[in-house]
Amino acid sequence: MSLSETRPDDWAYLSEGGATIVFSYAGAPNPAFDGKVLRVRKRPINVDDAEEHAEDEDPSVVFHQCVIERIVPSEYLVRPEPLVPPPTEWLQDLAGAADVSRPAERRYKDTVDVKTPRLALATDLVGGEGVAVEIKPKWGFLPSPEYLSDETRPVKTRTCRFCMHTHMRAKDGEAVSEEYCPLDLYSGDKTRMRMALDALWQAWSRSHGTVNNLRVFVKGQKLQPDAVSPVSPSGVDILTQLQPQLIADVLNPNADPKNALISALSSALLQSRVLEELSSLQRRLDALDVEGLQAICDLSSPGPEPTISDWTAWLVEHAGERDPTTPRHHALSYLLSATFKDCSIIVRIPPPSSTSTATVTIIDLDVKSIDRLHKWAKLDRKIVEAYMEVPEAERRVCVDARRSTSLESV
Ligand SMILES: [Zn+2]
Repeated sequence: MSLSETRPDDWAYLSEGGATIVFSYAGAPNPAFDGKVLRVRKRPINVDDAEEHAEDEDPSVVFHQCVIERIVPSEYLVRPEPLVPPPTEWLQDLAGAADVSRPAERRYKDTVDVKTPRLALATDLVGGEGVAVEIKPKWGFLPSPEYLSDETRPVKTRTCRFCMHTHMRAKDGEAVSEEYCPLDLYSGDKTRMRMALDALWQAWSRSHGTVNNLRVFVKGQKLQPDAVSPVSPSGVDILTQLQPQLIADVLNPNADPKNALISALSSALLQSRVLEELSSLQRRLDALDVEGLQAICDLSSPGPEPTISDWTAWLVEHAGERDPTTPRHHALSYLLSATFKDCSIIVRIPPPSSTSTATVTIIDLDVKSIDRLHKWAKLDRKIVEAYMEVPEAERRVCVDARRSTSLESV
């Protein structure tokens, strides 16, 4: 299996995160690549070459295999398969073609890494015959009151982190999902989940797709709310204008597409345990809250970036000790919690004619830099202080349905 069997323009730009660009295979039928995506590492445009050191293996693939696959059930994951890099010219052509589709703010910052390329192949979760929805669910728990200060405890145990952050961002004029509370989505309660999904849809539609908590794909094609007719902002036309026959094929033709999508999504999410797993991981790994972590670690000098052997040692402690005491262990736990707070899930809904069932998969599980701990502590403080200015009666009450069960199992 060699990428050189394909042409750079066989790979269509799909999406990108902080570290990689993802392309989906759109070339002639090829059993090695059909239904696959190619993940290609990026490099900052102004990187200092002297700081670089070439690793033998792709660090994000190694982190996935050595850490993520050890703590997340395999049925919720897509396993990346590392690929031998193609010739430099091939990658340069791929980078050039991708730039046309990439958001400008990304294009100015980074590009395909052609110097020390790292590529991996994975299952294409948004292609195929059905509907695929990417959701960034964010923080799914309220912190334990134990490690919070007297000042922040009444605020942070009542309103969830996402809702407080949303309040601050809205005040700063950003497009945000103001009605969405992650604790509704994570609740396991159908009515609350539908409310959360409705809020995500509204924000997606209202923001012309710029709110990044929701993306919708039909038969691999990303839907843009901008396609909506100005006379009918209900969302119906988003779908019907773009691919009317596809919606009739894929969802219930008798229902409003938004409602049909929310019904299918909530059923798939209720049947899967992915959200429960994610919320539980976030809560267990962030057991101290950043305030408690700050009390035992100097976050302005958190030590070197963890190596794979640091993570392996962490896993041993994580599995064997209920309450490990080294500050470094807690710092790594918090770092990993941040990965799960920022990841996305992809819900694939097959057409009714298909014999396959809906699946929910967790993606974007890259490790975060340990240097960000300090920034997160400062941001946390800023968010809470901004929220303290909201009169108490107007503060949102977020209900953490999973809190008691989780505390029992700790
Ligand atoms: Zn909330």
